[in-house]
Amino acid sequence: MKQLSPRQIHLDFHTSENIPGIGSTFDPVSFARTVKEASISSMTVFARGHHGWLYYPSKKFPELVHPHLEYKNLLLDQVRALHKEGINAPVYITVQWDYHSATTHPEWLIRKKDGSHEGGPFTEPGFYQSLCVNTSYWDFLKEQTIEVCEMLGDELDGLFFDIVGVRPCWCASCRAEMKKLGIDAGNDEAVRDFAKMVMDRFKKNMTEVVRQYNKDCTVFYNAGHVGPCTKESADAYTHFELESLPSGSWGYLHFPLTARYARKLGKDCMGMTGKFHTEWGDFHSLKNLAALEFECFRMLSFGFASSIGDQLEPNGTLNPATYRLIGKVYSQFAQREAWARPSVPVVEAAVVTSETPRAEHQIPESLMGAVQMLEELAIQFDVIDPEMDLTGYKLVILPDDLTVCGCFQKKLEEFVAAGGKVIACAKGGQNETGEYPACFGAKSAGAQKVYPDFLIADGKLAEGLEPENEYVIYLQGEALESAGAEVLMSARAPYFKREGDFFCSHRYTPSAKGEPYPAVLKNGNVILFGHPIFEQYRKNAPFWCKKLMSNAIDLLLDERIVRHDGPSTMTVSVLDQLEENRTNLHILSYVPVRKSATIDIIEERTVLRNVTLKVNIPRKFTQARLVPEDTPLEVKDGSITIPEINGYAIVELK
Ligand SMILES: [Zn+2]
Repeated sequence: MKQLSPRQIHLDFHTSENIPGIGSTFDPVSFARTVKEASISSMTVFARGHHGWLYYPSKKFPELVHPHLEYKNLLLDQVRALHKEGINAPVYITVQWDYHSATTHPEWLIRKKDGSHEGGPFTEPGFYQSLCVNTSYWDFLKEQTIEVCEMLGDELDGLFFDIVGVRPCWCASCRAEMKKLGIDAGNDEAVRDFAKMVMDRFKKNMTEVVRQYNKDCTVFYNAGHVGPCTKESADAYTHFELESLPSGSWGYLHFPLTARYARKLGKDCMGMTGKFHTEWGDFHSLKNLAALEFECFRMLSFGFASSIGDQLEPNGTLNPATYRLIGKVYSQFAQREAWARPSVPVVEAAVVTSETPRAEHQIPESLMGAVQMLEELAIQFDVIDPEMDLTGYKLVILPDDLTVCGCFQKKLEEFVAAGGKVIACAKGGQNETGEYPACFGAKSAGAQKVYPDFLIADGKLAEGLEPENEYVIYLQGEALESAGAEVLMSARAPYFKREGDFFCSHRYTPSAKGEPYPAVLKNGNVILFGHPIFEQYRKNAPFWCKKLMSNAIDLLLDERIVRHDGPSTMTVSVLDQLEENRTNLHILSYVPVRKSATIDIIEERTVLRNVTLKVNIPRKFTQARLVPEDTPLEVKDGSITIPEINGYAIVELK
């Protein structure tokens, strides 16, 4: 697998035509020195941004050069100055957002069904009126890309195409092609599938164009998310950059969820955050140091490269404070990356995603809840799609809303017959007609009619919970019937469902103390929860949901890869390095706090003391040490105690 440059910057440069003196204070030498001193190994610089302007002396499109570009050869000199310091410099080209094109080429605009354009009105600020690559805009994009390829020649390290998302379009070109293909333009689902085909075709064609000019530069298409939707066009990419600014709309959960799936696509991956307190375009803000550490170190804990987004000010001079901040993080990153890159994650479980391959940015709540919960339990897991191989996993987890096809049910039966373990919740594992696979030994009688209902804490599954207590699950579950499975846990119904003038007190109706009925079933290697435990955890994180899941895992697996006595906010990621003959534990202790109404904040590292980890990995180990500090740790029956974890600790096991 080709490895990416490890410590990158994405240098946004969307610059208005109403600002004078673009690049007026740019100095190639000090620019590159600032970058070098911050331990940066690659910086993505701009050919054309969302305002639509070019930052080089274009021969093909002289009218598109930024009208106030004072430093005429800005792009080329940025690239050359960086190269002189041994720093890569991939080039950015915008695709679907280009304000100048949107205002001068209405025929290129993506059209909604009613003929209106996407994004806000032109009387309001913003460049979000998306363009359709299925129009003659493609010819322009192709020519502009070729111009960049020719101008830079062998000096071109890579191309970053931005805003390449699946957006249903009813423009004249799309309607004409849909008609030709016999696609009903009145069917929203069919139009979405057509839009995906158009974007996948665009990526394939664009990579082919690039390859005519450059055999080995990196190529990436950004849609703000990498998921099952990306898979079909993966051949057009050289790698994946996971745009995920936790202080932006993504939050802290998007990155690990995406990362666990993206790493299954067979290419090197890079996380992408920002130096901004909030997100893109927040020029005059600095992210808290601890937050930036966590975000970059977390990428490294997945074995990924890192990218930090910044935005260059119009005058072309980098802000020294920003690069002091980045340098503080990237210097530490550089000392640690040998224990993460390249590496292979050591995993025991796979969560099968219920995310649709037909659209980006539609991440199910159940999947979010599953990732949150399993990370808190230090379970080592991938997120896979139903087409992927189940071999090698000890445990497969099917979230609440994962309905599957017959072929996946067959694969699951084979997996279980071969000794594999399965945990499913609610509709997880059902086919389109609501049937579970035979290995579940269970049937669904449809959705539970009277709810919320209450799990009765009893038996092995209830260990650590209050005996006989009735624990509410707020969300509606499936009414389970055993078809051979044993009942692991039962539930009771409320007096009645809260509706109309039937209600009691502020919220739901309490337990009627009636006859218990099956709520969790176990059939050999399979445990089935009737309730959507993961979505419930996403909604308000009841501790009992996590405890039930943890106990269910222990009922199925003899051992876990990692157990620890640290807090639930501590994460552990296990990476194996075959060539180095070692396995490394990456342990993070940073706690995002909802300090504001809008975003989570990390202000400091959370120091942990005397944390003991019990490790059970395929590689036999007798030695453990903290790296890069080179502090030996005692190994006792596979257990290691770390005296202090100050934010980030890596334990090397040999
Ligand atoms: Zn179109």
